[in-house]
Amino acid sequence: RKPIVAVVGRPNVGKSTFFNRIAGKRISIVEDTPGVTRDRIYADCEWLTHQFTLIDTGGIEPSSSDVILSQMRDQAQIAIDTADVIVFLCDGKNSYTTADEEIAQMLRVSKKPVVLVLNKIDQYKKPDHFYDYYSLGLGEPVMISSVNAMGLGDLLDDIVKLF
Ligand code: GDP
Ligand code: MG
Repeated sequence: RKPIVAVVGRPNVGKSTFFNRIAGKRISIVEDTPGVTRDRIYADCEWLTHQFTLIDTGGIEPSSSDVILSQMRDQAQIAIDTADVIVFLCDGKNSYTTADEEIAQMLRVSKKPVVLVLNKIDQYKKPDHFYDYYSLGLGEPVMISSVNAMGLGDLLDDIVKLF
């Protein structure tokens, strides 16, 4: 079967934007009961000679902070259980949060291959808080801009090396 790449991260870090960029098409989002995780979104993708299935684990993003945390844990667990490679997307405009730390901990314990990604780096300049992210214990962060489509090729190279 094709390798599965799952995208996890807090609400609003750009998971769906990233997913749509890589999947190369817009995928309509169907409203569901608020706070209930919508079906995961899958896309068949190809990079160089590698085929893989990309999953956006985000679903409908909850608004209350306790629901956000529990949904993030669920997402991370889904990714750990089903994915071959996990893309952990963070908001590169800022340093990491306690929710990011908690997810990082789950991912480290799982021993699955993880690529730590700082999204929203729209200009090619390392922000000062870039170095904070090393504390998550997931290696060197990869910087991308999903909106400007910057850094995506290098990131895909890193991902397919982990298959
Ligand atoms: P999700 O909740 O993680 O799925 O995040 P979305 O994909 O819905 O994006 C949340 C917001 O961040 C939207 O307003 C996006 O336009 C914005 N966004 C996503 N990627 C980038 C990026 O690379 N740069 C900037 N500046 N904004 C982004
Ligand atoms: Mg989303």
